[in-house]
Amino acid sequence: MSVDATQPYDDRNIFAKILRGEIPCRKVYEDDFALAFHDINPQAPMHVLVIPKGAFVSWDDFSAKGTEAEIAGFVRAVGTVARDARLVAPGYRLLANAGTDSHQEVPHLHVHLFAGRPLGPMLVR
Ligand code: 5GP
Repeated sequence: MSVDATQPYDDRNIFAKILRGEIPCRKVYEDDFALAFHDINPQAPMHVLVIPKGAFVSWDDFSAKGTEAEIAGFVRAVGTVARDARLVAPGYRLLANAGTDSHQEVPHLHVHLFAGRPLGPMLVR
C-alpha cells in the first residue's frame, strides 16, 4: 500500500527495523547520517537504497524538518555511495518516491540509486 506522506513517522516501518538492526540488510555504506543497502527486489543491475538515520517519512518531511547537518550529511552520503561504486563516469539515476501518487511503499525517506545499464526513459510513457 502506498504511503500517506502527511502521516507522522511510524517507527514500526521496515527501514526503521533495519536501522535498529532488527532485520538484516546487505550494507553498502554507513556513516553518522545515512545507511545504504541493496534493494531486496532490484530493478537494475545495481539498485541501492540510501536512507537517512533520522526519523523522516519522506522528502517533504526531511526537507522541512531535517537539520542542516542531517541534510548535508545525507546528500553527501548519496554522492559517496555512487562515487565509491565508480558510477560517476557511466552514470546513474536517483529516485525518491514521496506519497501516494509516487507509490512510495516504505514510510521512511529513501533514495533509490539505479545503475549498471542504460536506464531508458525516466518514466513509463
Ligand atoms: P518505494 O516504493 O517505497 O520507493 O520503495 C521501497 C523499496 O524498498 C522497494 O524497491 C522494495 O523492493 C524495497 N524493500 C522493501 N522491503 C525491503 C526489505 O526488507 N529490505 C530491502 N533491502 N529492501 C526492501
